[in-house]
Order: sequence, then C-alpha cells, then structure tokens
Amino acid sequence: MKLSDRTKLIKPAVTLAIAAKAQKLSAQGVDLINFSAGEPDFDTPERIKQAAIGALKKGMTKYTEVRGIEPLREAIAEKYRREFGLNYDKDEVLVSCGAKHALYNVFQALLDNADEVIIPSPYWVSYSDMVLLAGGVPKIVATREENGFRITSDQLKDALTPRTRAFVLNSPCNPTGAAYSKGDLEALASILEGHNCLIISDDIYEKIVYDGFRFENLVTANPSLRDRTVIFNGVSKTYAMTGWRIGYALGPAPAISAAAKIQSQSTSNPTSIAQAAALEAIRGSQDEVETMVAQFRRRRDVIVKRLNSIPGLTCFNPQGAFYVFPNIRPLLGKKANGKKLESACDLADYLLEEARVAGVPGEDFGSKENIRFTYAASLEDVERGCERIKKAIEKIG
Ligand code: PMP
Ligand code: GLU
Repeated sequence: MKLSDRTKLIKPAVTLAIAAKAQKLSAQGVDLINFSAGEPDFDTPERIKQAAIGALKKGMTKYTEVRGIEPLREAIAEKYRREFGLNYDKDEVLVSCGAKHALYNVFQALLDNADEVIIPSPYWVSYSDMVLLAGGVPKIVATREENGFRITSDQLKDALTPRTRAFVLNSPCNPTGAAYSKGDLEALASILEGHNCLIISDDIYEKIVYDGFRFENLVTANPSLRDRTVIFNGVSKTYAMTGWRIGYALGPAPAISAAAKIQSQSTSNPTSIAQAAALEAIRGSQDEVETMVAQFRRRRDVIVKRLNSIPGLTCFNPQGAFYVFPNIRPLLGKKANGKKLESACDLADYLLEEARVAGVPGEDFGSKENIRFTYAASLEDVERGCERIKKAIEKIG
C-alpha cells in the first residue's frame, strides 16, 4: 500500500516499542527486569481514582469543551499562580490527551515548512519526529556530559539563526536527568532575549527532583519571555497517571487557540472522567508526590552507585526525572557472545538476551554512546537488575 510521505519521515517511539517487547517477554514467563518505559511503577493514588469513579457515577460521560473542562483549566492556572506567581487565564490553557499530544498540537499550530527548531541532545525521542511531522527542521545541538548534559549559552547563541522558530528545553531531562538551575536558565534567557523565537518548555518532570534542587523554567527565571513561551506539563509522571492520558499546555492565547483548533479536528476533548481525575490530582493533597519522589531518590542513589562500580560504564548522577543514561563508550568494539558491539543498540540487545534486562539504546535520544535505564521500578528490581547488568558486562571480552 502506498503510504504518505509524512509517515516515511518518522519512526515509531522506541521507548514504547521496547516496553511492548519487554511486556511480551514477561507475559511469556521470562523473568525480565524492565528498565525501559518511563512510567512510575506506583499505582494512581486512591483519592484520584475515587474522583474518576464519582464523575462516572454522576454521568460525566459526554463530550466536554474541546480545551478541557473549565474547573481543570482554572486549577492548572491556579497551580502556576500559587507555585510560581505566574498569571495565566483559563483561555491560555489547553488540556490534551497527554503532554505528548499537547506538544504535537502546538508544533502543528506554530511551525511552517523549513522552520528550524533547536533541540539540545540527548533529547526525548518524540521532539524531532513531531517537528518533522509539522514540516519543521530539527536542529540538534549536542550537549556535553562534562557540562552536566546542559546546553551552554554559547552553544545556544551559535545555533540561533534567522530561520530559528523555536527552542525546546526539557528540564529535568529525559533521558539524562539533567536539570537547569535558575542561574543556568538566566544565562540562556539572556541569549533568547535577543532572538525573537518561541520557547517550548517541557516541564513534565518538574516535581521529580532530588537533593533540594529547586525547579525553575525559562519563564520563572525571566518573566519577559512569558509571551513567547509555551509550558508543557501533565499528570502522568507526578501522580503515576500515565494511562489516563491527561497533559496540558499553557501559553499565549493565540498559540493555545490555534492548538485547540487542531485538537478540535482530531481528538476533540480528552476523556471526560480522566479530566475529573486530573482535577483532583492537581487540587488535592500533594502528600503522595513527596512519598513517591523519596522512593525515586533512594533508587537513584542505588542505581548510580551500582552502575558506576561496573568497569566499562560511567554514570552521570541525575538531579531529576527517573532515568540514568550511563556512558558505554569503553565497551564499544568489544565482543559479547561472539558478536562485536558496534552500538548502544547492540549492547541493549545483548543485555536483553544475556541479562534479561530491558533498557533503551541511546541512538534515538541522539547519543550512540549511552543507554537509558529507568529506575521507576522497585528497589529490589533495581538491585537485581544492576547485578545482572554487572555479570553480563563482565563477560564482554
Ligand atoms: N515529555 C517528556 C520529556 C516525556 O518523557 C514524556 C513521557 N511520556 C512526555 C513529555 C509525555 O508524557 P504524557 O504524554 O504521558 O503526558
Ligand atoms: N516518556 C516515556 C519514556 O520516555 C514514555 C514513553 C513515551 O511516551 O515515549 O519512556
């Protein structure tokens, strides 16, 4: 069958593809440690489930406003007022089927053919493909591990051209866990002040930060950027709600209205009862978030220490999110089970076969020399997984 040229520009999300493969192996009875898909292993808190059940019982089973119900948009605006002193009207909020969908809609709404979008690498797998689908051109800027995987202001300055339409910043970052301090953001903001491009601020891991790190974004660091920034966030990671598919965008009304128009011609509103659950998540007690983050931190400490003790691996200590992105360069070119390891992909295949540990190779995140493991898994699995990785890597000759 002839497929559209558009579909040939992109590939399926590797994160989801490997997660599906891992689930299939587990279902077949393979004792697999799954460090692949980035989703909290915790269940959604009970109060949130009850809100959805209540909404269902009350008959909240109809279409809602395309942009999401007003109380939810108001609660999102209120969260930004309360936590950051930022003022957004409910008409500057779009609720979509996950932050992924919100990002897709906004790229569709804001990009024209050949518009350049600066994306620091390593990056989350979907940005460049979403930019391509919208006719844009991803401009990848490789960050350096020595700089904590953060783009420097000199790198940003060099990457900006008259064709630059947008700059994407994801802090804390998937896959590296790197997070930008207020000082880092102020330095980037001073470069952006001189260049009138849009800013895409993906704040989905906002709450998952460690060691007292204080989350900020480019708008909180420099409020003069507010009117050309779209902030993305959602309930998936913070409240263990990946399957509910609720995320959102906050930004200037023209951008939000254009993205809502795209949404009105594709999915319409996100699921009504999931919106009721998200409202409870954002408005209710935030105690469970702290409990979950404390557990993620314990696991991070274990996985970073264990991976750094394996010869051939070095592991950056992330300030946020729930991923590690160890460097595997010394292992490349060596032989594993008689086969030369040419790439992170080869190593991920070897670890799946030999150690029964699923990780995601760095290639689709823009790095050939790293592999991503998520520690959104029980502490026991984190320990067992590291032990298996160690044994398998020790066999590499
Ligand atoms: N941004 C980043 C950086 C992510 O890792 C994810 C994970 N899925 C998303 C956005 C989208 O999350 P969701 O669609 O579940 O809200
Ligand atoms: N963001 C998560 C990950 O990177 C979930 C999968 C996806 O949406 O790509 O694993």
